Amino acid sequence: LPLHPLQNIPVLAYHKISSEKEFGITTVSPQRFSQQMGWLHQNGYRTITFKQLETDQVLPEKPVILTFDDAFSCVYHEAFPVMTKYGFTGVLFVVTDFIGNYALWEPLKVQQKYRHLNERELHELQNNGFEIASHSCGHPFIVDLSEAELSDELRRSAQDLKAQFKSDIHSFCFPYGRYNRRVVDAALDAGYRYLTGNVSFTNTFPEIIARRSVYQTDSMRSFRKKLRVPVKRMSGGMVMEKMIQTGGLASIYTRKLQNI
Ligand SMILES: [Zn+2]
Repeated sequence: LPLHPLQNIPVLAYHKISSEKEFGITTVSPQRFSQQMGWLHQNGYRTITFKQLETDQVLPEKPVILTFDDAFSCVYHEAFPVMTKYGFTGVLFVVTDFIGNYALWEPLKVQQKYRHLNERELHELQNNGFEIASHSCGHPFIVDLSEAELSDELRRSAQDLKAQFKSDIHSFCFPYGRYNRRVVDAALDAGYRYLTGNVSFTNTFPEIIARRSVYQTDSMRSFRKKLRVPVKRMSGGMVMEKMIQTGGLASIYTRKLQNI
């Protein structure tokens, strides 16, 4: 199966950077995050964004792309100060109907107390080289949507971001990392050029950029392994990631059952 042309650039996915324990496994502590950034810099890695691939700018010798799903306010308060120290940037996957708002799209009350980056914070990050990208309007389980709803999530999110941040929106991250042929085609149709989600064992699409998620449980050793490219879709670490991602989906199904 052909891999994405970006296969030789490691892409990492972060969610929350926080010292709060109840955040769960997708949270990385600020200390650990700082250690990871320091290691990257010391080992010659330099960050780029998807957007930078659209220019004729010469790429660094060891590029890495750091992505932040959901664009929570902790990216500004915890990650940004550390990244600035090393001249690093990242890609912010914004849930556009929740800019500056609490994560009310989350199924669990305990997760709803976290705030998304507001417009001022997003602007400041953008001014410092971060890419503004779409993670849909309302973070739905996108493969379940009708054609009209799907089109709205893909197109309106990009239009809103373009209007607010005066920048073309090239990149999209599928909510919950889930996608199928229909939604991948719709996203390409909507004009996105960089699509990302979870790397799946069963549904592997050449259009999807392979990313590795960084978790609370990662040691420096497992972190370093996540920088290996191209991503081998069946490694031990991948099985672990898949289990965590499936656990996340359990809460969506719970909500669906409650709604019946
Ligand atoms: Zn998300």
